[in-house]
Amino acid sequence: MLSRIKDIADRLAPRLIEIRRHLHSHPELSGQEYQTAAYVAGVLSSCGLHVQELVGKTGVVGHLNGDSTDSRLLGIRADMDALPIQERTGLEFASHQPGIMHACGHDVHTTVGLGTAMILSQLGTLPGTIRFLFQPAEETAQGASWMIRDGVMEDIDAVLATHVFPTIPGGSIGIRYGALTAAADDLEITILGESGHGARPHEAIDAVWIASQVITSLQQAISRTQNPLRPVVLTIGQINGGRAPNVIADQVRLLGTVRSLHPETSAMLPEWIEGIVSNVCQTYGAKYEMNYRRGVPSVQNDPYLTKIVEDAAQEAWGSDRVQLLMEPSLGAEDFSLYLNHAPGTMFRLGVGFRDRPNYPLHHPQFHVDESSIITGVVTMAYAAYKYWHE
Ligand SMILES: [Zn+2]
Ligand SMILES: [Zn+2]
Repeated sequence: MLSRIKDIADRLAPRLIEIRRHLHSHPELSGQEYQTAAYVAGVLSSCGLHVQELVGKTGVVGHLNGDSTDSRLLGIRADMDALPIQERTGLEFASHQPGIMHACGHDVHTTVGLGTAMILSQLGTLPGTIRFLFQPAEETAQGASWMIRDGVMEDIDAVLATHVFPTIPGGSIGIRYGALTAAADDLEITILGESGHGARPHEAIDAVWIASQVITSLQQAISRTQNPLRPVVLTIGQINGGRAPNVIADQVRLLGTVRSLHPETSAMLPEWIEGIVSNVCQTYGAKYEMNYRRGVPSVQNDPYLTKIVEDAAQEAWGSDRVQLLMEPSLGAEDFSLYLNHAPGTMFRLGVGFRDRPNYPLHHPQFHVDESSIITGVVTMAYAAYKYWHE
């Protein structure tokens, strides 16, 4: 079966490159993937899949029905949105949209999803059904929840996905057991002091100084009270307050992001942060308001499904092209929301060039080794096949 999958993939290669380049030159921002979705729906229909459009706002779902000898339903997820970045790659198929670029490789993910649908639809009947989930708005961490709200995870037993990775060479696959990405939440703290004359601090409550104490206490408390083997990253990225150089500020607003890998750590963070904020404020007579908004949880790869993908990649490419990743990333990925409904795994698709500089994700010169598309498509299609035949 593997050699049949590889043969079909090789035959499809020029078409897949064409699809990827079309998507790359026509990027759309999160939640506005109308043309991308219509294009995806067209390709899926031409492969004989039953297609639903406008699922999860601008998402597309494709159903590839098996012969139902196995009642399990497999989901394969790809994200379709681009970023508000002005492309500087100089590629002949660079973005036609000023200020919008596929700088996170979602054009590759969509192509891998479509290529997998093309291959599996040509293989003949599968024992179970596959539901392809082409989601919008991953970059804003909204798309997965829109899709789930529209019921795409109903009856799904397992879900697979991939994300490109420039530090892994094209042609290689990265496998990670356990945590792959971090939980990422938003934090907003407003310190409420009392205004006064800059010369008379004893008559005021200085919100700027108390805010600085809050930030310092939070950063020090992480290193002294959190388990160093269970990382927490707290970044205050924005701070606003004060009116004039000689007026003591009555109000300072802090905005930040909070990231962690372990679900138990993630669960206790709002209370832990509020305890520190409240103690500091109380000591110096200030009041505060705190707003902790849950973002996406950490992607926790299921061991059984991860092993299926690892075996598929090993058989397809050999062990020197399969990297076992020792470290997770503190980036966030809304694929984790699907994992609240079914086990799943996301593998890393190497897209790095060996002979020229590579740029990080979200960089205006981010580019991918297109040979990775075949690597991704074969790995995904064969892993899906193995899901029913292990
Ligand atoms: Zn991204
Ligand atoms: Zn991404």
